[in-house]
Amino acid sequence: MDLLRCFWLAEIVWRLKWEASKSDDLKNRIITYNLEDCSALKILLSELRDIGQAATTRSDVDFADAPKQNSTASGQRIHNLLEAILRSAHAEYKKNRICVAERDSENEASRKGPGGLKGHPAFRRVIPVKAGKIIRVRRPTKCQRHSGQTMKMTDKLAAHTVIDLVFTKSGYRKTITKYVGRMSYCRQCERHHLPPGIKRFKGRLYGHGFRAWAVYQRITLRHPYSAICQVVEDLFGESITDASIINFMVDLAEHYVISERMLLKRILASPFIHVDETKINVQGADHYVWVLTDGTHVVFRLTETREAALIQGILKGYKGVLITDFYGGYDSCKCRQQKCLVHLIRDLNDDLWKNPFDLEFESFLGAFRDVLVPIVADVDKYGLKRCHLSKHGQKVDR
Ligand SMILES: [Zn+2]
Repeated sequence: MDLLRCFWLAEIVWRLKWEASKSDDLKNRIITYNLEDCSALKILLSELRDIGQAATTRSDVDFADAPKQNSTASGQRIHNLLEAILRSAHAEYKKNRICVAERDSENEASRKGPGGLKGHPAFRRVIPVKAGKIIRVRRPTKCQRHSGQTMKMTDKLAAHTVIDLVFTKSGYRKTITKYVGRMSYCRQCERHHLPPGIKRFKGRLYGHGFRAWAVYQRITLRHPYSAICQVVEDLFGESITDASIINFMVDLAEHYVISERMLLKRILASPFIHVDETKINVQGADHYVWVLTDGTHVVFRLTETREAALIQGILKGYKGVLITDFYGGYDSCKCRQQKCLVHLIRDLNDDLWKNPFDLEFESFLGAFRDVLVPIVADVDKYGLKRCHLSKHGQKVDR
């Protein structure tokens, strides 16, 4: 490199000298230098081109990023055999166990869904060819958009397949039902309309029972999405994705909005309501789950903070008794309040463990016990009867 730089510097010096002197000797020296330079570059270029073309076969050339795996001819045969076995084993494994969407490089391009993200393998829903039951549904007669408009019968057939789970006393089984019916044509809309018996599925392949089962796996049993997909594949031979389960949960949440409203109405009609909250972690962020119950009906709510504004809103105008722990947030609720006895006993008990030598506290707790134990004994014996509880009033006041 230093040598090159010397020549290169010398050439500049010759050039400057020549410009001053216009000497023929210097001019020839510069031309010779440039010619030699060009021919050296030519040799280098042709050698690099040769290496590029023959790199895979030349033993004296290797690749920096993926070094060649060299072997003898007999060794290569062994490699080929073993790799073929590995490939076939892998293909079989995919077919039997984990193949959610089979990859076929020839069909890869044609499989891409129109709305799929770039670089995401598109998910192809496989609609069963054979249905266990075929149900014929009536064609629509009146247009829903244009009331009174009688629609024309057409030859166009509509079909929709539903995969569902049917629950019985002893278990559940998968069903595949195909709904078939004629479409009708509305002259005013200028379009075909699906039979109501097909339209009600909103294009969903999985029925309510199936979706409810998946949501139960996720929410009640807290199974991971991947485990649920695997169970669906192994037990029912169906391919679903994490996104399917998320959609099922959204669907069911919408479906049960009315049920939740009814539950809340029942709770608010009760003479007392228990409310408690607990912290949970959702994807690394703290959230709070609130539970409201009258002992029979239960409603859960999720908030991002521990502010009791949600509970204040729900209990607005409530005339009964709110039973809570000692969290200050509940004090802002306008209704009558009672602190939960279980929380109180637990807090008092914990304080005694923490201050074992506080004699004043101990004697206070002893008096508290003497009031409480007979009341609890009576509740156990007679239930929450006024006549049996009223006799404790004097003791409580004291
Ligand atoms: Zn119409």
